[in-house]
Amino acid sequence: MNKILFFLLFPFTIIQGQQSIDAPLNVILLIGDGMGLSQVTAGMYANKNQTVLEDFPVIGLSKTHALKNLVTDSAASGTAMACGEKTYNGVLGINSKNEKLQSVLEICEDNGYNSGLIVNSSIVHATPASFYANVSSRKLYEEIAIQLSESDVDYFIGGGKKYFNQREDGRNLIEEMNSIDVVKNFKKFQKSDAGKIGFFTYDEEPPSINDGREPVLGDYLSATLDKLDNREEPFFLMVEGSQIDWGGHANDIDYITSEFIEFNNAIGVALNFAKNNLNTLVIVTADHETGGLAIKMGKTKNFEIVASFNTLGHSATMVPVFSYGKFSKLFSGIYENTQIFHKIIEAIGVN
Ligand code: MG
Ligand code: ZN
Repeated sequence: MNKILFFLLFPFTIIQGQQSIDAPLNVILLIGDGMGLSQVTAGMYANKNQTVLEDFPVIGLSKTHALKNLVTDSAASGTAMACGEKTYNGVLGINSKNEKLQSVLEICEDNGYNSGLIVNSSIVHATPASFYANVSSRKLYEEIAIQLSESDVDYFIGGGKKYFNQREDGRNLIEEMNSIDVVKNFKKFQKSDAGKIGFFTYDEEPPSINDGREPVLGDYLSATLDKLDNREEPFFLMVEGSQIDWGGHANDIDYITSEFIEFNNAIGVALNFAKNNLNTLVIVTADHETGGLAIKMGKTKNFEIVASFNTLGHSATMVPVFSYGKFSKLFSGIYENTQIFHKIIEAIGVN
């Protein structure tokens, strides 16, 4: 449809958005680590029977298995979603033929996009690292830190500062990253108008919300969206609710639901942005389920639940994919997790 005809048919749609619907596509991918359907359900009840995911019109299911194992880890599934190929558990950004893969973030950068990564684990943890690193083991944190420091990522927020400035090789990557404004606190992140900004939230892995981490993922996302929105280029942004998985490993339902509620708030920030910027696609999914969680009893009064777990590890159950906005229809149906990459590439329209 040409622009004039579209405007005649849908004038309100065009005026309402800050950017018109035919501007280049912005993508916000939100990954709840370990967030299977039971985690979404438990979190929804803990949140008074509400989740912002109810506003997502398109829902799909993703098969999470790794190359050889039905039960994946976050490295193989992160690589599948970020780079579009199945690989071995523990491996980041490298396929079974030992070839380095390009991630959707890197492809976006090559096509004039800006990019960002916001997580509440360390920034070198498997999920965010699958978008910028190529390493044979997810545990090579100091090498992964080097690869982030050499990457094109424009904005990053996460823990794990020690992998950058207290390293075995004695290097201080924070000093070496002179094209990036590495800020000391969130206020400075908000104020900085540098083109590339890094904010280390903790030296180590951030604590859980129940252990004192402030629930600020939505604030981090909001501040990053303000910056990206002020730039001319479109953007790719990945936001991770990292610790839903850790609650699953701990078989701790309160850990899972408190982390889900924070993540749910961040999803709400992304959704609001997409409602005001029509050239935006929001995808919410998980890399795998953790804990084999079941809700086996509960009462509608206060929506209290009794949870039971099947494993201290991950499970192979399919995970939901919720999508909203332009090109969201691509994400309905049942498909391999590698299709998340291919569908985003199709939506963006680059090779
Ligand atoms: Mg993760
Ligand atoms: Zn895990």
